[in-house]
Amino acid sequence: MNTQQPIGWNLGMSYVELPESFYSEMEPNQVSSPQVVLLNDQLAATLGLNLEQLQSTDMAAIFAGNEKLEGIEPIAQAYAGHQFGNFTMLGDGRALLLGEQTTPQGNLVDIQLKGSGRTPYSRGGDGRAALGPMLREYLISEAMHGLGIPTTRSLAVAVTGEPVLREIALTGAVLTRIASSHLRVGTFQYAAARRVREDLQALADYTIKRHYPAALHEEHPYLALLEKVIERQASLLAKWQLAGFIHGVMNTDNMTISGETIDYGPCAFMDMYNPATVFSSIDVQGRYSYRNQPGIAEWNLTRFAETLLPLLHDNQEEAVKLAESKLSEFARLYVTEWMAGMRAKLGLFNEEEQDETLVKDLLDIMNEQQADYTNTFRSLTLDQSEKMFNAPEFIEWKERWTARLQRQPNDREAVKMRMKQHNPSVIPRNHRVEEALQAAETGDMRPFLKLLNVLENPYAYTAEQEEYTEPLSDGGSFQTYCGT
Ligand code: AMP
Ligand code: MG
Repeated sequence: MNTQQPIGWNLGMSYVELPESFYSEMEPNQVSSPQVVLLNDQLAATLGLNLEQLQSTDMAAIFAGNEKLEGIEPIAQAYAGHQFGNFTMLGDGRALLLGEQTTPQGNLVDIQLKGSGRTPYSRGGDGRAALGPMLREYLISEAMHGLGIPTTRSLAVAVTGEPVLREIALTGAVLTRIASSHLRVGTFQYAAARRVREDLQALADYTIKRHYPAALHEEHPYLALLEKVIERQASLLAKWQLAGFIHGVMNTDNMTISGETIDYGPCAFMDMYNPATVFSSIDVQGRYSYRNQPGIAEWNLTRFAETLLPLLHDNQEEAVKLAESKLSEFARLYVTEWMAGMRAKLGLFNEEEQDETLVKDLLDIMNEQQADYTNTFRSLTLDQSEKMFNAPEFIEWKERWTARLQRQPNDREAVKMRMKQHNPSVIPRNHRVEEALQAAETGDMRPFLKLLNVLENPYAYTAEQEEYTEPLSDGGSFQTYCGT
């Protein structure tokens, strides 16, 4: 049957309204034997796409980058960034924006390929990506979405049929990433470093129009932009910390203006609770450890505020004062969001002054007892036991918590429901992710698809999720590699 419905493209390319220095038009790079290995049907539907209308060869041609979409000229975006604290001019070194889709709900989203070949910003790189890291980004970004954490999404992974040379030859692949935009703190740093005021202003105006249109009605739209970005990042960081997510490479070029998590490289979820946890093999100083993440976000936002100074006030001192007035709000916004999340994790509906101590004491005991972060909250939710629950400190803590629960009017069922909604039953455990990726490398996608399936509804508490809850006994020594 051939129903011949339209595929549903509703594409444009508003980014080229920006001055030419912000991007480079690119002809797509051709690969020899493209094949789609993963497709996100649910996401495609929310984008208004009926991809089942496509022949598999046409689908492969699109998602491996052999074809442009609707005649739109793809672009690579220019940006800069502080990488581990050092400023560098960067850009999409292996990514291409194919176009911007207007969804049936009226949202504008970027359709971007990652691993699609060299660009003017590739520097020494080959512009390519290997299958493992692209599947990893697909899995973790979709898991983050399932957890309710703002993130870029993954629409497809295609293999190219061409090897990528790293320490060894790996299977080449391209990821199709969906984002509400790819504007980064680094995009503003790029504009600021070039010192062309009109270009900076054009970027700020474009960003306001795309992400924060309400700021236009504020007395000072650029200050409102700064405020909104700070708010969204404070909220995002609280969600990361609450889930035990460690990004791994919080460079300013990996921080979005939209407040979505972006660029899944050496990221991972913490097993055993230890605030000093670092996963990335390249983060030898521990700059991006779990406990440092909110402070690093604030540091990155300070770099963002600096780029906006010329737009905030003609007088530099006044501009700095305005920026500082907004930056100083970050810590309070973050703690408020984090505490709200922690109260929910503990089944609390109302607020008491001592709640912060109650939460911190639990975390201290978990740290001391080397307890698994996710499973501690999971077992509290299910009223099951954990090794730590026999410790005298914990028994004392539990009495305080129980008394606290009794001081609120909500019954046990309501408490349990609230806890289930905020404590995931499953997270992407490192050893499970690695196991799935290894099977995928040999062509067996079953473990990956099964894992993806349980991660899509992490608060479901289904029987299938049980087997994915076990941490690896020496989970603390796990390292992830950038995998570029
Ligand atoms: P990341 O650490 O993934 O955020 O990447 C930092 C910068 O390096 C970005 O500008 C990327 O586009 C670029 N990059 C990463 N891998 C490659 C590659 N294989 N070829 C070219 N550029 C790359
Ligand atoms: Mg990046």
